[in-house]
Amino acid sequence: RLKRASGDLADREAQSRHQALHDALSGLPNRHHFVEHLQEQLDNLVQTRNNGRVVVAYIDVDRFKDVNDTMGHAAGDTLIMGVAKRLQQTLSREDFLSRFGGDEFAVLRCANSPDAANELAERLRKAFEESFDVYGQHIKMTASIGIAMSPDHGMSPQELMRHADIALYRAKGDGRGTFRFFEPAMDASLRARQALEIELRRAVEAEEFVVHYQPLVSASE
Ligand code: GH3
Ligand code: MG
Repeated sequence: RLKRASGDLADREAQSRHQALHDALSGLPNRHHFVEHLQEQLDNLVQTRNNGRVVVAYIDVDRFKDVNDTMGHAAGDTLIMGVAKRLQQTLSREDFLSRFGGDEFAVLRCANSPDAANELAERLRKAFEESFDVYGQHIKMTASIGIAMSPDHGMSPQELMRHADIALYRAKGDGRGTFRFFEPAMDASLRARQALEIELRRAVEAEEFVVHYQPLVSASE
């Protein structure tokens, strides 16, 4: 009986470890799991001193909220599961796919050539070419994709993930339905924007704005 009890305990431990590392809706590894795996892959690179690369791609579905708003939250869940399945089918077995929550997914790919990032971007774009079936309706969705790659864009999970996120933000800003590779200039422009935002907030609080009203005249009348 003691043996069975310890077996049950081991099962429960395995189950709770699985829950801690996976997303309940899609069954995919979660962000925590992704970070652990990314750290392991980066450590491997350093230890084996080979010049392999680790590619991190962030994927965020465009205008996903519209589906929630027009068809309901359950339909949104179905779509998320459809996207998860489609991504799994499109990616290779070695790619590590994860759901970060909401409509955001991430992929980790280890490769030896810089072309791997291009190939990954192309595959991810293809994954959204066909529509998704939600309650018998065919819904066409697009996604924005941001990509960062070691060693060029960082050698820590934090750096690579932040840079992939910045590239994703740029893909959204450039009109959605597209992918962007991280470039240091993106970071600089984001920082400049954030600094301006902080300055503007401070100026509003300090009542430093002076408002000038100008008459608007229509010359045609
Ligand atoms: P964008 O093009 O800027 O990405 O716009 P979006 O409408 O896709 O919005 P965004 O990616 O910022 O937010 C995703 C939304 O997904 C926010 C939330 O309302 C919804 N959401 C988050 N988690 C879940 C979930 O588990 N199920 C469903 N159905 N909706 C979720
Ligand atoms: Mg979105």
